[in-house]
Amino acid sequence: MILILSSNTDQQGADYQQLTAHLAGLPGIQTRVHVERGAEQALTEIYLIGNTKTLDIVSMQSLPCVERVVRVSEDYRILGRHKDDQRPTHFVYNGVRFGQDTLNVFAGLCAVDNREHVEIMLKAVHDNGQVCTRMGAYKPRTSPYAFQGHGKNCLPYVFELAGQYGIKVMAMEITHESHLNEIREALHQTGNPTGVMLQIGTRNTQNFELLKIVGRQTEMPILLKRGFGITLDESLNAAEYLASEGNRNVVFCLRGMKTNMGDPHRNFVDFAHVPVVKRLTRMPVCVDPSHSVGSRAASPDGILDMMHVTAQGVLAGANMVLVDFHPAPPKALVDGPQAMLLKELPYFLEDVQIAREAYLKRVDLAARYNNS
Ligand code: PEP
Ligand code: MN
Repeated sequence: MILILSSNTDQQGADYQQLTAHLAGLPGIQTRVHVERGAEQALTEIYLIGNTKTLDIVSMQSLPCVERVVRVSEDYRILGRHKDDQRPTHFVYNGVRFGQDTLNVFAGLCAVDNREHVEIMLKAVHDNGQVCTRMGAYKPRTSPYAFQGHGKNCLPYVFELAGQYGIKVMAMEITHESHLNEIREALHQTGNPTGVMLQIGTRNTQNFELLKIVGRQTEMPILLKRGFGITLDESLNAAEYLASEGNRNVVFCLRGMKTNMGDPHRNFVDFAHVPVVKRLTRMPVCVDPSHSVGSRAASPDGILDMMHVTAQGVLAGANMVLVDFHPAPPKALVDGPQAMLLKELPYFLEDVQIAREAYLKRVDLAARYNNS
């Protein structure tokens, strides 16, 4: 059960003290307090954990400071959608809104290889009117002998160039607590020219200790990839780990499932789950066509499979697209064969726009039909 308190509730005030004293007296119930500080107001929520079935909504609603009570019906207590739940389905980071109602494209390098490629990529992103990108500095690789990413050494120039080209948010995977500290330090040293969305890769979806560490910081939002060999429920619980530690600015990314049933695609594309995740949780949903499809194969209509699946995800209401581009794919140190070409960026964005407009028309149509 979640008690949503009146905005700007004073935790030192007598009413609040009375409320917490009452809650402390409830047998078998523990509480966890979460404060969300917006620009104008602070919103306090108290999570009641334990046997809440015996608690009556009306009497809980009458307690001091309590504005609304939500009975949690699913496992995903914080990020889930519950009955009569009007909590927000968006957040704003570094001036960019991420919500179940928006769409952001993160086109960029799978892995940073050199400064020149980073600059060419960021300039293209900027020239095409975009403010988000992807830039991998820490790469989890199947082979220990494969390129592992430049790590902290590339961060200063990546962040400085991002600032120069007006990039507001870059998705960057981390696999260890030390990476989080290195990113923080490099951002600080370069004067915070850009923002970072911390990416948890599919190989780490259930790395619970990493999730707890990343969830405990709240300055940067998190992009959690769905685990490639676990159930959707297990992946959504992984997202809930982040939120339960304090960070609820989480975007959930579908990136395909590992099974030979998806052949010849690299992974079995799971973008039919976009509306499912939006229904079960309040998280914005991202699709990653690059790691799902994994090649530049095209169909007889001349459209790349990666663009087809992107359109399918966007048409189903996706809120973010994470996609690999590279200025010279044969020279890329990671995932060159699935990189889109820079000259394809305006084409890709226009195609995404067509799908987005079609999605918005479908929403209008559904509203008209459902209200008639
Ligand atoms: C990536 O986005 O660079 C990546 C490694 O993705 P995934 O974790 O989905 O394989
Ligand atoms: Mn990759």
